[in-house]
Amino acid sequence: MLNYKLLTPGPLTTTDTVKKEMLFDHCTWDDDYKKITLKIRSQLLKLAHVSEPEYTVVLMQGSGTFGVESVITSVIGKSDKLLIAANGAYGERMADIAAHAGIPYVLYREEYDKVPSPKIIKKIMKEDPEITHVSMVHSETTSGILNDIESVAKVVKEMGRTFIVDAMSSFGGVDIPAAQWGIDFLVSSANKCIQGVPGFSFIICRTDKLMDSSGKARSLSLDLYDQWLTMNKDGKWRFTSPTHVVLAFAKALEELEEEGGIPARSKRYAENNRYLIEKLRELGIRPYIEGRYQGPIITTFFYPEGSRFSFQEMYRYIKERGYAIYPGKVTDADTFRIGNIGEIYHEDMENLYNIIKEFLEADKK
Ligand SMILES: *Cc1c(COP(=O)(O)O)cnc(C)c1O
Repeated sequence: MLNYKLLTPGPLTTTDTVKKEMLFDHCTWDDDYKKITLKIRSQLLKLAHVSEPEYTVVLMQGSGTFGVESVITSVIGKSDKLLIAANGAYGERMADIAAHAGIPYVLYREEYDKVPSPKIIKKIMKEDPEITHVSMVHSETTSGILNDIESVAKVVKEMGRTFIVDAMSSFGGVDIPAAQWGIDFLVSSANKCIQGVPGFSFIICRTDKLMDSSGKARSLSLDLYDQWLTMNKDGKWRFTSPTHVVLAFAKALEELEEEGGIPARSKRYAENNRYLIEKLRELGIRPYIEGRYQGPIITTFFYPEGSRFSFQEMYRYIKERGYAIYPGKVTDADTFRIGNIGEIYHEDMENLYNIIKEFLEADKK
């Protein structure tokens, strides 16, 4: 079987040691297992620079979207209204979630290559006092842009509103001091920068805001408060937990610490990213996002000049040589994406550069 490393932003390439943890079928109600859940929860708080009792963590079965949906459908009450600032597909997905649940919302759409403006967000809040919650994506994986959630949090706090952040593809890879910035609910998942495998999401919550949401959930399975209530007792999940994924995640957290925590991982990702952008530029491949907005997780690149370029052909060529890249997701240009998170090092970026160079040279002939 052909093996390759993933240059996609989650699921991503994990270590063999993380994968090996999944060879054990753990009992769910055993104390050892519940302790693992409790430990994971306390480690996640630490990574967000917060602690109990001000903050708490809920783990939720499902992919990242389940976590976002859990927050939006659990914490926004019947008489509340949500403002969504979106500059990509994941921001738009929040609107989709609100629409499905019948939650009143306003959508502030920004261009995919621009960050949502805190000024505009403040103006919208001022003009519409019914708005009680604001939500936004941190690292918009659609393009790779890194949104300025710190500045947005400031205006949301000034107005006394609740701030929900989808930090799916940034948490663990970019430092986020949740309390200092003023984030009330932060959502991420097991298979992004912590470098675990897919199967659950986690939500770092301001405890008082979570308590406020008791009885508000529109869904049973995704009820954030109820999930917390059970899990907070002794670490037992409310319904069947993804045991193998949890074991792998616990190992991944250990390995994050061994690497040197978020500062070291963040540096590795940023260096991968910088190198890749610099080297592909030499080949005439330009990034879609302007330098100052480009995040360190994933990069969108324009197709190289020349009409003969075929993404499918390049994808196949790269895959045969050990890496899987990503098609583009922005709607206004022909692009492809390369993620540089996961068990990916400088050597991989070098390999990739050489493969692409070879492909383009062969393509010209
Ligand atoms: C990965 C991701 C999600 C969640 O997507 P799933 O397919 O449900 O895991 C949400 N938001 C962002 C920004 C993401 O990168």
